[in-house]
Amino acid sequence: MVKEVKSGDRVFYTCEVCNLAYEERVWAERCEEFCSAYNACSLEITSHAIRKPED
Ligand SMILES: [Zn+2]
Repeated sequence: MVKEVKSGDRVFYTCEVCNLAYEERVWAERCEEFCSAYNACSLEITSHAIRKPED
């Protein structure tokens, strides 16, 4: 399950497999699907990742 992370008035979505954060849920979902299926990250998908404001 993609995890929703709230930070102030912003919301991020994190892939629970690789822990990368995305501004758009659809990318987090794609990331998690890919990570679960291949046990690796897709560069095309992770290029959409953002840095988490706090960790
Ligand atoms: Zn992932």
